Amino acid sequence: MPFTQLGLSASLLEAIAKSGYTSPYPIQSIAIPAILAGKDILGIAQTGSGKTASFVLPILQYFQSKPVGKNRQIKALILAPTRELAVQTGTVFAEFSKHLPRPVKSLSVFGGVSINPQMIQLQGVEILVATPGRLLDLVANKAMQLSELEILVLDEADKMLNLGFKEEMNRIFELLPAKRQNLLFSATLGKDINTITEM
Ligand code: AMP
Repeated sequence: MPFTQLGLSASLLEAIAKSGYTSPYPIQSIAIPAILAGKDILGIAQTGSGKTASFVLPILQYFQSKPVGKNRQIKALILAPTRELAVQTGTVFAEFSKHLPRPVKSLSVFGGVSINPQMIQLQGVEILVATPGRLLDLVANKAMQLSELEILVLDEADKMLNLGFKEEMNRIFELLPAKRQNLLFSATLGKDINTITEM
């Protein structure tokens, strides 16, 4: 199925063409229409499958019809297990959003570096890509709020659990509104992943 049949807007299709993608990868053909329809999804996907664009494109489209919300109220949160993945995902958001009529500001945050520049950069951010520990630090510092979150992505959820982020993830879930769209990506399906899908 070509990109033109997935329900994406003309400006997103133009951004995709500029990126050099010619046809969707299988996960994109399945996930993009489901996400645009507001469904929760569980994607079993390895790195390299094209899973990042499968959530980046519909999330950017979602924002195209939304007015800019209150400052420091995050509307879409992507949790990632590592700094590398957080940076990589932030780059994909920035790359696709730069061609869109309604700009959407995204930011990647992670630990191991000073928190102060991240607190300043959060100004105007609507989409946040974060590792769990640094996200909780930013919340504790009142750098932003998650109470109006609409979309949650757990990327490489199995790796997050393997790296011992379960307790931090539970604390984050408590900060999120119950009504939200949940997009879960994992390379494997296990007991812990099932527990997450029940939250
Ligand atoms: P990911 O699995 O999201 O890390 O993506 C793996 C690689 O595939 C990245 O370099 C993407 O830029 C590339 N990619 C994703 N979707 C497509 C597509 N539909 N056509 C060509 N390349 C793609």
